[in-house]
Amino acid sequence: MAHIRKRRPENVSGPFYVDSSCIDCGTCWQWDPRHFEDHGHQARVRAQPEPGLETERALMAVQACPVAAIGTTPPLLRQTPTQGFPVLITRHPAGDVYYCGWTSRRSFGASSYLVVRPQGNVLIDSPRYNRPLKQAITARGGLAAMVMSHRDDVADHKRWAGVFGCPRWIHHADRDAAPGAEYCPEGEDPVWLQEGLQLIPTPGHTAGSMVAVLGAASQDALQVLFSGDHLWWNPEHQRLVASRQYCWWNWREQVRSLARLQHLNVGWLLPAHGDRRCFGPGEWQSQLKALLAAVEDDDASTTSSGGCGGGP
Ligand code: SF4
Repeated sequence: MAHIRKRRPENVSGPFYVDSSCIDCGTCWQWDPRHFEDHGHQARVRAQPEPGLETERALMAVQACPVAAIGTTPPLLRQTPTQGFPVLITRHPAGDVYYCGWTSRRSFGASSYLVVRPQGNVLIDSPRYNRPLKQAITARGGLAAMVMSHRDDVADHKRWAGVFGCPRWIHHADRDAAPGAEYCPEGEDPVWLQEGLQLIPTPGHTAGSMVAVLGAASQDALQVLFSGDHLWWNPEHQRLVASRQYCWWNWREQVRSLARLQHLNVGWLLPAHGDRRCFGPGEWQSQLKALLAAVEDDDASTTSSGGCGGGP
């Protein structure tokens, strides 16, 4: 729990504050950039929220923080947001997509997503286990499957799978991070988890990294790409990025895996770390082409500067 004695002096004065236990994961300012920002390798409150919806949103950042580094004073502001997570991102013809909040320290604050579908709901990466989110998922029909994009973001997978009795998917090369996972695809061939939901192995960041793709490519309904730590959006430079600095396995393989996503027609990019992004028609292809041109340059380290605030 955040403590007033550890309040960072960089916070603006007022009830909300970030304390010195912040791990710079980026969750709060990606969720609520109006009131939180990166400042000196930790977060700070840049503006105090107004009463009402702004305060609701800031209180959800308190819930989402993986290390409870965001506090309020006086404590009467420690109220439960009425809306709460998960929060709808998009209604896609292949399923409604929600951001789960409630990030876990064990996955360094990685984002996770819930896809609500007639074929059965799917959890993409693991949020921190907690009762409010469990109740919200239950109210939407529970879970039919859980996907782990790679070994770093498995967090509380065992608990979620145990509560909902759902099978877990993780690539064979990262399976030791999630012992007991029921499905472990091998190699690089895409696999269909359900109709309209595909897993594409993208080795590089880790040997067993996979992305998930919701929907078929069409102009009418662009696809949703759950990219794990393979790539994400950099809002400062307005471009797609992948990170050599935060590549834990094989950068050349990661670049090769990036090229394997050129056939997609992405409308929403939803990474585990880094910023989410909505693309217009054709924008994904041009952005990915620019990223590939940058990483294939000898000076690839320029591209790896990322700037997402807290690498994978
Ligand atoms: S959400 Fe992440 S960046 Fe924000 S205060 Fe918590 S640890 Fe720091």
